[in-house]
Amino acid sequence: MNPLRPGLRVVVDKRICVGTTNCAEAAPDAYDVGDSGIAEALEGASNEAMLAGARACPVGAITLHDLATGQLVTP
Ligand code: SF4
Repeated sequence: MNPLRPGLRVVVDKRICVGTTNCAEAAPDAYDVGDSGIAEALEGASNEAMLAGARACPVGAITLHDLATGQLVTP
């Protein structure tokens, strides 16, 4: 879990991520894949960037959740 901004929670499931870097390429302000080969969510990204990166993930490792309702926002 990584609460990046009020009202939205980003989760990168490190058990699912296979390090393709699609998320970071689609949204470099929102995700980074470092030496670990596993994506990390970055603070301060816009909702649009977080969504773009989540949608670019080929294995569904990134999910966004509404903190108020707990509802899954994407994928
Ligand atoms: S696109 Fe998905 S699998 Fe690829 S690095 Fe990002 S989170 Fe991991």
